[in-house]
Amino acid sequence: MENAVRKLLDAAGREIAGSGDDLEALSELRVRYLGRKGELAQLFKQLGGVADADRPKIGKLLNEAKIELEGLLSAAQDRGKEKVLDRREPFDVTVPGRRPQAGRLHPITQITREISKIFHQLGFETVEGPEVELDYYNFEALNIPKDHPARDMQDTFYISDDVVLRTQTSPLQIRTMEKRRPPIRIIGPGRTYRCDSDVTHSPMFHQVEGLMVGEDISFGDLKGILTIFIHQMFGSDIGLRFRPSFFPFTEPSAEVDMQCVMCKGKGCRVCSQTGWLEILGSGMVDPEVFKMVGYDPEEVTGFAFGMGIERVAMLKYGIDDLRLFYENDLRFLRQF
Ligand SMILES: [Zn+2]
Repeated sequence: MENAVRKLLDAAGREIAGSGDDLEALSELRVRYLGRKGELAQLFKQLGGVADADRPKIGKLLNEAKIELEGLLSAAQDRGKEKVLDRREPFDVTVPGRRPQAGRLHPITQITREISKIFHQLGFETVEGPEVELDYYNFEALNIPKDHPARDMQDTFYISDDVVLRTQTSPLQIRTMEKRRPPIRIIGPGRTYRCDSDVTHSPMFHQVEGLMVGEDISFGDLKGILTIFIHQMFGSDIGLRFRPSFFPFTEPSAEVDMQCVMCKGKGCRVCSQTGWLEILGSGMVDPEVFKMVGYDPEEVTGFAFGMGIERVAMLKYGIDDLRLFYENDLRFLRQF
């Protein structure tokens, strides 16, 4: 009998050790050895046949064997459970944490801020104005009377005869000059509207307007400021040229071209093989505009410029379809 108990303990010990702490195997072993019809129970049944003198000793031996087996199985099961947990939740402290998903600024906002920052460093301040604008500020005060052919250049959204969605940010010049006396150094970024829609036009788009007025402001100042801006925005190796042009509210006027950022002036599809890209319009403020706001053109001079923010963003990022900015496609927007 003592031999049988020892054999059972040996066999059970070996099998538990060999189970690899597998929970399913351990639960089978528990049934086999400790179950109600298990091997230990069979030995307990034989206790009746043991001689009276030996019965207490054998009984004690069986109880000790039961406690020992319980201990071995429980320890193995605990280890098995830990292994399962480790497998489910591998924890590696060197793995970088998961970043929460955060929104980001729209590329048009990013470019607007970048443009503003450059002009702020040059002493310009930002002004804002209404998008629903009086015809007077959008056209007349800018030297574009009702019958002026320049009105045909802009496909205007009319709200009534006297009220429009502003077609340009230029009304900001007038509104600022009406309220202040020179010196003035402002930029006015904002939304503008025209009835137009294709790969390079959107009915709503963004412009930034600039105005510098004071004593002895010259065309040289205009060239200097705009050259600094373009070099900071696109790189100091970009060539510029000032091309005579016409705007009703400036005289003389110049369109500014910069060397193509894609081909560096060699000629490509983006620049229509010319090597140049039109980037902004500018000019010396027309004396007629100064008279409209009560400035004396004999005393002050100034220059103004305006550019499309989408155009700057398209050239800066190499985008060829303006509509991408407004389709809210995250695959596009996440690239910035
Ligand atoms: Zn090019």
